[in-house]
Amino acid sequence: MTDIFCSIISGEIPADVVFRDEAVIVFKDIRPQAPVHLLVVPIRHMEGIGDADTATLGTLLMAAHRVAHEQGLVDGYRLIVNDGEHGGKIVPHLHIHVLGGKHLGPKLAQDSEVV
Ligand code: 5GP
Repeated sequence: MTDIFCSIISGEIPADVVFRDEAVIVFKDIRPQAPVHLLVVPIRHMEGIGDADTATLGTLLMAAHRVAHEQGLVDGYRLIVNDGEHGGKIVPHLHIHVLGGKHLGPKLAQDSEVV
């Protein structure tokens, strides 16, 4: 199974990478939804939370927090994980969205008409 994030990890497709180690890559989202919009992605392919192990999930969360601070989000940020069709997931490779750089307001979703 390969996907667009696997292609970024292998270097086939360019991305604006802000952090990388043996377990995690963090790059800027190509269509930012906030002044800062990062994607925290495991190097090893896994489709969703259900395919991940506890250690990987912890590593991703801690990387998200660390990189958010390194990128200047010292006043806070929002993490989002879309899962499955109803969750609006498009890329089938586990990732955490990190959004920040302004006050994001209290809403979890902006354009959800079905409540
Ligand atoms: P999802 O809806 O799957 O949680 O979000 C996937 C995210 O990946 C979207 O916010 C989308 O803009 C981003 N994305 C899709 N293709 C690319 C790409 O080729 N490069 C980068 N940097 N981001 C991408």
